[in-house]
Amino acid sequence: METLANGIAEFLMSEQAPQKQSQPKSPPTSSKMEKLVALCKRRGFIFQDSEIYGGINGFWDYGPLGVELKKNLKDAWWHDIVRCPSIGPDGQLLEMVGLDCTIIMNPKVWIASGHVGGFSDPMVDDRETKQRFRFDHVMCFVHPNGDDAPIFAFLSDSPSEAKRKKQATKAFGVEPKVIAYSEIKNAAQLAKVFAPEAEKPGTLTEPRQFNLMFKTYVGAIESEDSIAYLRPETAQGIFANYRNVLDTSRVKVPFGIAQIGKAFRNEVTPRNYTFRSREFEQMEIEFFIHPATANEWYKFWRDSRFKWWQSIGLAGSNLQLREHDKDELAHYAKEGAGTSDIEYKFPFTDPGFGELEGVAHRTDFDLRQHAQHSGLGDKLKYFDQDLQVKLQNQGVPKDEIDKQVKYFPHVIEPSAGADRGTLALLCEAYTDDPGRPSGVVMKFHPRMAPIKAAIFPLVDKDGMPEIAQNLYMDLRKTWNVQLDVKQNIGKRYARMDEAGTPFCFTVDTQTLQDQTVTVRYRDTLQQERVNISQVRAFLADKIGAGAGG
Ligand code: ATP
Repeated sequence: METLANGIAEFLMSEQAPQKQSQPKSPPTSSKMEKLVALCKRRGFIFQDSEIYGGINGFWDYGPLGVELKKNLKDAWWHDIVRCPSIGPDGQLLEMVGLDCTIIMNPKVWIASGHVGGFSDPMVDDRETKQRFRFDHVMCFVHPNGDDAPIFAFLSDSPSEAKRKKQATKAFGVEPKVIAYSEIKNAAQLAKVFAPEAEKPGTLTEPRQFNLMFKTYVGAIESEDSIAYLRPETAQGIFANYRNVLDTSRVKVPFGIAQIGKAFRNEVTPRNYTFRSREFEQMEIEFFIHPATANEWYKFWRDSRFKWWQSIGLAGSNLQLREHDKDELAHYAKEGAGTSDIEYKFPFTDPGFGELEGVAHRTDFDLRQHAQHSGLGDKLKYFDQDLQVKLQNQGVPKDEIDKQVKYFPHVIEPSAGADRGTLALLCEAYTDDPGRPSGVVMKFHPRMAPIKAAIFPLVDKDGMPEIAQNLYMDLRKTWNVQLDVKQNIGKRYARMDEAGTPFCFTVDTQTLQDQTVTVRYRDTLQQERVNISQVRAFLADKIGAGAGG
């Protein structure tokens, strides 16, 4: 088992850290993260995987509240993308279908996609501490103008950053400058680098390639011929099934195939809670288009995906859209209409941002690769009947039409992470409120809230529990609601504030006289009375259609 000494394990261990006198005072951002991690554990949003055995680095489990939150995110995505998509830039209804592929596929898929050959991050090992880091993640504190000075390496957003900064400032007597480790080329300089946790300088190895795919064997015999991989992305299952979907559903270009599913990457340095995990879930769309329409479809998906994240509660300045510079683009995207990231300002990236979703014009790279590696060649091309009719009507000669109507569609890929999305929802919702008994309230968008409403009888007598139970039995047919009869009302409200439940309905003495209940709004604490027969309509109005449980 791997040690829990690095990465986000720090967050868990640091739950006790603020009490220790010797600990340096945490910056406000990390203390927000520590408090959120503690709440997630205490209230059952997120647990460390295999915790009773000390955990395993890079793997996380969702508890009773977390699983509902993540499910709401995935259900909203599925509803808005597959079942109820918007109107496209061409004024037509979007054609979208869903798919569910296996995690283990024929390994040739990963040779064709380039993952077997190229899905690797160069990394460096520290000979002293035996730690391994992604080469592009190692940063250094250097003297602003001193050649002879030592160089202190660290990982951004990890405890090594604060520790090394303190050491560098003390050693230099001035504020250190930050550069990427990869910028240091000179051997004499490299020999002066203290690795993030090392005591001696010059212990980092040369960068080496490291394939991020998890390997396994299929069948009884473990040999070269039985090697298979856990998929590192869901996208390739869509490309591998593109012909099946075309042949079995009535979709025509432009159309999209969507999939939600697990992906696995043996990340070198999993960290920042669930942000960089080794097992995670993706929500991916491959949208197949005519190559000439790439610009408008790229812009459409980039902007509509950004608005979607806003619509589920990430509406403020913590969300940004960032267009990639040319030199950041993947090899296949260089000729394309562009790539952009939808990014969220997490407490651990603040003031920077971390990627939630990438939107890329992947050209026809993947389909051409699969055409070549599967031997299907032009059979994977799309025959555009509508274009054929259009060109015939324009009087275009037959041989010219034949050339134009069979092509490999281009692809716009919006690829989002369900775990990073869930984490962003948690970070956005977390609100300290010393005025409440719980001291904290999770202000989830009602559509995302794990529990939509709580129903309380004020006291456990006088027929109130029966009325509350009847209301609960009715509402639970549509939403995830909770009946809570235990403890005083203040404690029950506090529990619901921590769970982020937007509405609490209380059955009290007045209910017995006029059939109204009190509704308490989570965010404003405002209370009003609603007739019991109107509660269902009230919730439908506040939570919205297609909201799921
Ligand atoms: P990064 O640069 O952060 O490693 P990426 O660009 O490799 O991410 P993609 O391959 O574009 O990510 O994957 C699409 C989405 O899948 C990302 O936007 C992210 O939300 C999610 N994702 C990727 N890697 C991880 C991971 N290790 N843990 C959790 N989510 C991930």
